[in-house]
Parts: sequence; C-alpha cells; structure tokens
Amino acid sequence: MSIIFGPINSRRFGRSLGVDLSPNTKQCNFDCLYCELKAANPVKKYEEIVSLEEIKKAINQALQKYAPIDYLTITANGEPTLYPYLKELILYIKSIQKGFKTLILSNASTIDKKEVQEALTFFDEVKLSLDCVTQKCFKKIDRAKDINIETIKTGMLEFAKKYHGKLIIEILFVEGINDKIDEIKELNTFLKEVKPHLITLGTIDRPPAYNVKAVAPDKLFELKSFFDKDLNVAIVTKGAKNSKKYHYTKENILQTIKRRPLSQEDVTILFDEASLNSLYELLREQKIELKNSFYILKEEL
Ligand code: SF4
Repeated sequence: MSIIFGPINSRRFGRSLGVDLSPNTKQCNFDCLYCELKAANPVKKYEEIVSLEEIKKAINQALQKYAPIDYLTITANGEPTLYPYLKELILYIKSIQKGFKTLILSNASTIDKKEVQEALTFFDEVKLSLDCVTQKCFKKIDRAKDINIETIKTGMLEFAKKYHGKLIIEILFVEGINDKIDEIKELNTFLKEVKPHLITLGTIDRPPAYNVKAVAPDKLFELKSFFDKDLNVAIVTKGAKNSKKYHYTKENILQTIKRRPLSQEDVTILFDEASLNSLYELLREQKIELKNSFYILKEEL
C-alpha cells in the first residue's frame, strides 16, 4: 500500500495530500463500531513501523509531483499518534513546509501523553475525535481496551490550553448508541470547557466494521440544536453537501405541513440549516410532531 494518497479536492481543505503512517495494515488502539476499515483487535503500539526515512522520501516525492497543495494531512490505517517518530516527522515537515498547512486526524486516545501533546502542537490544525464523554457510551462505540474517557478528557483540556493552532473536534453519531440527548448535553458541557475552533457532527457514510446504522441526516440537525450557540458546530454529511437546499420560515413550515406532512427524507433533501433549526424549534414548542417518520401538526394527533 502507498504512504501517500490523493491529492483530494474538498471545499474545506482545498487540495489535500494524505500521508498514511500505517500503510500496510490497520494498527489502532480503538475498534470503533463505525470504522471504515475491517474490525481488528485494538493494539497498544505499532507492531509494523515504516521508517521515518521512507516517509520523508515519500512526502518529498509527492510534493515535487503534486505541488502546490493546500494541506498535508497526517493520518493512518488506524491511529497516527501511535507512530513512534511523530514528533521527528512533524519537525521535518515544518522544515520543508512552504505554502501548505499541516493537519493531523487523531482518535484522541493518546492526548494525555506529554510527548503526543508536544508533537501535536507543531501542527497547524489538529482534529480529535470525541464520540461520547461517558465511559459507558465510549466503551460501547469506540471499544478501546484499558482506556478511560476521563483520561482523554483531562488530556484534551490540557492540550487545548497549550495549543495555538486550530483545534477541531469531530463527533460521529451512530443510531441508538451516542445520539441520546443526555449524552449530547454532557458533550456540550465538556466542549464548552475545551473551546475548540470547530466541532463537526457527522454519521456513518461508508460500510461500517460492525452492523450499526447511521443517524438520519435531519437527526444531526436536531442533535446540533442541543449544543450551545456560542460553540461553532457544523454538520458534515454527503447528502447535506450535495443537494440544493431551500429556506423555510417557521410559518412556511407550518403552512406546508398543514397541506401535506413532510417526511424526514423530504426535510433532509429540501431544508437548509436555518430551516432545520426552525423545524426543531417547532418540535420543541410542540406545534408539530414526528410520527411514523412524518412531521405533522400537533393538533392532528
Ligand atoms: S479510531 Fe479510526 S481507525 Fe481506529 S477503529 Fe476507530 S475509526 Fe477505525
């Protein structure tokens, strides 16, 4: 397998080149229900280590071939912070960095470790996963052995205080696992302390390692409504990105539903973000209700 992948073009990151620190095999200390890679027993450290020289060489060749790029993204078939030469690697990249930003995607499992915190401070952007903040939920979804969510939370707070780059927290929702309102409220309370630049909410969009389901895209908007307004929360779904969206006021929504109930799928396809927020306000105000996957006027019940 190749150390380099891409470049990939995306709206958020522009032209991004990926670096895989475990290109030949999955090496992760989590075994997430939603993993896009095959399920595998969690490992505490990399058994198979690609040399630093090999990775540097691959990056240099790719930069020569693909420059200019906007982002160099460090990732892995598994967890990149388990790579033993991460600090050496990022310091090397910084020494050759010209015109692009560096980003690392981590599951946050090692964020309490001083050496990992130090290595991550050299990245322009750090994206950490955080699917739950209670141990019960964390064990269920991320299936890590001997890792406690409280250790991760403490490490994340420590890191957020010392990091001067852009900290992004990614939450991935799985139906019936971490989409309960109580869990979201706890996530919200914790993230108010962390104060990341951005929180992204997403769900499964490729075949998962285990038999679990994505939450409906409109459910993501409902979940988003439980986060404080002063947190910068964005929804990331394929459906939300690809189709043309329309704006509905609360009155439009009530009038539309009065004529014809709207299905969950309808609102996912049609509604822009502000309209979905209005829809959930109407639900909270008990003016409408969700019944058999259709939004209907409350009076009709
Ligand atoms: S942390 Fe990432 S690579 Fe590891 S099991 Fe979870 S989804 Fe898969």
